[in-house]
Amino acid sequence: MQLVFASNNKNKIFEIQSMLPKSIQIISLDEINCFEEIPETSDTIEGNAILKANYVTQKYGFDCFADDTGLEVETLHGEPGVFSARYAGEQKNADDNMNKLLANLEDKTNRNAQFKTVIALNLNGEQYLFTGIAKGKITLEKTGNQGFGYDPIFKPENFKETFAQLSLAIKNKISHRGKATLQLIDFLRIH
Ligand code: IMP
Repeated sequence: MQLVFASNNKNKIFEIQSMLPKSIQIISLDEINCFEEIPETSDTIEGNAILKANYVTQKYGFDCFADDTGLEVETLHGEPGVFSARYAGEQKNADDNMNKLLANLEDKTNRNAQFKTVIALNLNGEQYLFTGIAKGKITLEKTGNQGFGYDPIFKPENFKETFAQLSLAIKNKISHRGKATLQLIDFLRIH
């Protein structure tokens, strides 16, 4: 079975491919000659995952899955959510985004937050959604230098460290993306 992953992130593709049986071959956007930027214009995380998967299936005719992730902060009513990548502007800079979030939480005692990943899968004319959530708290300052995005200011539940202080292997086990990906993989193994 061939399945397009609506991404050109080589790390993500390699990681998922390595978890799947050989009978399922993951193909990147490059490999189907899709070089345009796929619109992510929905105002929800689910909506953007669906938009990306549908774009590939409808325009290129492939079974496909796509993911979208956001950080939802309780006291900010779920912000930055779907705007996580461009919270502080279109430059999509991780430091700017973290600084803006820390400033917005300066006087707040409720630091609860969660990362949410939704994977939309189009397979044989049906659509399936898989959701992975990692709960935790936003710290008062940045700590650690691994990972990306908001990792230095996100402390997952039951850990003393931020995501940016954890190894990738541990982060993958407890993260939003790791959980959603495992659900996808379990589903694909039995379908
Ligand atoms: P994407 O949908 O995977 O591109 O994620 C959107 C944005 O959410 C990224 O640009 C990051 O700012 C943030 N983000 C997603 N996953 C993570 C993560 O695992 N750690 C920290 N930030 C993340």
